[in-house]
Amino acid sequence: MTDFAEAREQMVARQIVDRGITDQRILDSFRAVPRELFVPAVDRGEAYEDKPLPIAAEQTISQPYMVALMIDAAELAPADVVLEVGCGTGYAAAVIAQLVDEVVAIERHHALAIEAGARIERLGYDNVSIYEGDGSKGFAEKAPFDAIIVSAAGSHVPDPLLEQLEIGGRLVMPVGEPHAVQTLIKITRTGQEDYEQEEIGAVRFVPLIGAHGWTETGERGDPCSLPERIAVAAEVLPALDDPAFGTLFDRFGDARVVLLGEASHGTSEFYRARAAITRRLIEEHGFDIVAVEADWPDAASIDRFVRHRPHREGEEAAFQRFPTWMWRNTEVDTFVRWLRDHNRACAPHAQAGFYGLDLYNLAGSMRAVIDFLDEADPEAAALARERYGCLQPWSRDPAIYGRIPLSEGFARCETGVLDMLRDLLARRMDCMGEECEEWLDAAANARLVKNAERYYRVMYEGAAESWNLRDTHMFETLCQLLDAKGPGAKAVVWAHNSHIGNAAYTEMGQQRGELNIGQLVKEKFGEQARLIGFGTHTGTVAAAHDWDEPMAIEEVRPSLAGSYERLCHDSGVDRFLLDLRQGADEGLIEALLEPRLERFIGVIYRPQTERWSHYSECVLPKQFDAWIWFDETHAVTPLPGAELPGEDETYPFGL
Ligand code: SAM
Repeated sequence: MTDFAEAREQMVARQIVDRGITDQRILDSFRAVPRELFVPAVDRGEAYEDKPLPIAAEQTISQPYMVALMIDAAELAPADVVLEVGCGTGYAAAVIAQLVDEVVAIERHHALAIEAGARIERLGYDNVSIYEGDGSKGFAEKAPFDAIIVSAAGSHVPDPLLEQLEIGGRLVMPVGEPHAVQTLIKITRTGQEDYEQEEIGAVRFVPLIGAHGWTETGERGDPCSLPERIAVAAEVLPALDDPAFGTLFDRFGDARVVLLGEASHGTSEFYRARAAITRRLIEEHGFDIVAVEADWPDAASIDRFVRHRPHREGEEAAFQRFPTWMWRNTEVDTFVRWLRDHNRACAPHAQAGFYGLDLYNLAGSMRAVIDFLDEADPEAAALARERYGCLQPWSRDPAIYGRIPLSEGFARCETGVLDMLRDLLARRMDCMGEECEEWLDAAANARLVKNAERYYRVMYEGAAESWNLRDTHMFETLCQLLDAKGPGAKAVVWAHNSHIGNAAYTEMGQQRGELNIGQLVKEKFGEQARLIGFGTHTGTVAAAHDWDEPMAIEEVRPSLAGSYERLCHDSGVDRFLLDLRQGADEGLIEALLEPRLERFIGVIYRPQTERWSHYSECVLPKQFDAWIWFDETHAVTPLPGAELPGEDETYPFGL
């Protein structure tokens, strides 16, 4: 007759200790449980063999070492409450019961659950309760658990099990296809929404069959989670410097306008991705306008550089006003130099230009109009001086302009700036050839002055009014550019997600009555306009704490639970393109239509109040035609050195 006590001792020594598990508490718990009473009577002689054994319902009692490995990984403490899913004979539950306060064990097979329950009672394990049911759903009545051990292999880690884990709790389970080699994984819940995962090794288990596991026929029991569906639909992006990066965007090449967003104004990856896409659109698809969320006069000096036109005498270096890093950075510099090289080989009409859509540089635009007219038409220049003189007192800090009381003649500068624009537009109509570029530039500056005058005037009437004025100005400037270049002209726009993503499907549009350039372009061009948004989970960003304060490199907090960003992060794909157009993964798009939080970081970043300062609700698939994801991103590199007036070799940034 077998001496089971001796066999048990040998099992502990050879199968468990020799394989590296030496925790005395664990070893003693194996010494305390008579495994021979858990296996079928016919197999008792083999109860301590180094292998799993068959039990009823075509299931198995696991190999002793495998039970020890899972218990060791679960780091059980005496006060713990533990859930075991797939209790089979109840053997593992009995061993665990030696180490902790309470064990809840679930078995899906009726006969096994009844038998295990009777056995556990007979053997006197009074801190184990056995239930019949689908353990892939966990056991909410007794949750949360300090540890969950799943003794059958799932298709994935079931969400209910993650939710029922105590913060600090550990879950150990095999994951993988039925009847194949699977991976034993350990998940530690480190926070309300945070989990860490590690792989322990290759294993073989019977399948976890249930709502959140496999079906009897080997299909997944539940549809994939949203992050998993994102992972399936995501097209992995090559490295940013890989020429293949741009080719993924050929699908947007037939659009008239491609708008490329960014989730912050200080992230290197967003600039470099936009540069790579834009290069491709210019080289392969005939795009000839790069229009950016920057002031017209500053961008105009870059445009003269990239199109090999002479720069203006005495012109200031571009982008010297806050936030300088937004355009004065190495990422933009690299792109600008590429554009200049590209244009060198092109006839003037085929060159791609660089333009600013924004209206903040009121002083720069007034100066540009006057300087141009000084050369082109001194009489008109004198008139411009007089008309713009009205705004001169506020040109350094135009925000003050809106604060002058109505009694002082609120719109007293309005007529002059309107007349100036009208005159220049009329002159532009008459211009010929090369000269037209200069008149176009002057008219754009005059439009900027006119809109900026209104912008600063309505700034104190309400945020929505001034925002709408600014985005309408950007839209009009873009349309003017397209018109000026003719029906074949095609534009790429670089601006923040808040300007690019269709505002009608965001809190800003729905609750604050704000529109944006993305919405206006979509309304005008329909499918000929493609709106592409960008997102990130964490990393660093260049931003200021407040307006006009110095730039700092800030840590970007991990994205909030419940946000689109968190879904993308949970997909586990580091860098991807998600096509959201009709015809893409309809089921996924449908699921993403539920409004969720989205993060917006501008030139200011306030991590302490992040939820309220930087998140708002959006409907991503309606906002954008595509979404570009970089899980971890880094701050842009501002151009070093003092800001000097433009000179040939330092042009266009004056470094
Ligand atoms: N730990 C058990 C023991 O000591 O005897 C052996 C577990 S056996 C390898 C896996 C068990 O998981 C089987 O008894 C199987 O019926 C059970 N099982 C599979 N899917 C389940 C589910 N969704 N809920 C509960 N039990 C499940």
